[in-house]
Amino acid sequence: MKSNELALKRWQTMPSHIRKKLEDNVYCSTCGVTTIVDYYVDFADYAIVLKGNCKSCNHRVARVID
Ligand SMILES: [Zn+2]
Repeated sequence: MKSNELALKRWQTMPSHIRKKLEDNVYCSTCGVTTIVDYYVDFADYAIVLKGNCKSCNHRVARVID
């Protein structure tokens, strides 16, 4: 999937250490807290949301950035 351009821009304005922290704090229904990989950035109810896969089991995961 392709990222929403505006959402991606907003995401990229966040400091990289914070983005890293958020990427490493994603909930997977199989693994619990995991890292999101191969994600794209979108909007959901005006919030940025990362949509991708769990690093451990490849299950689809999402993380809302508030
Ligand atoms: Zn998982």
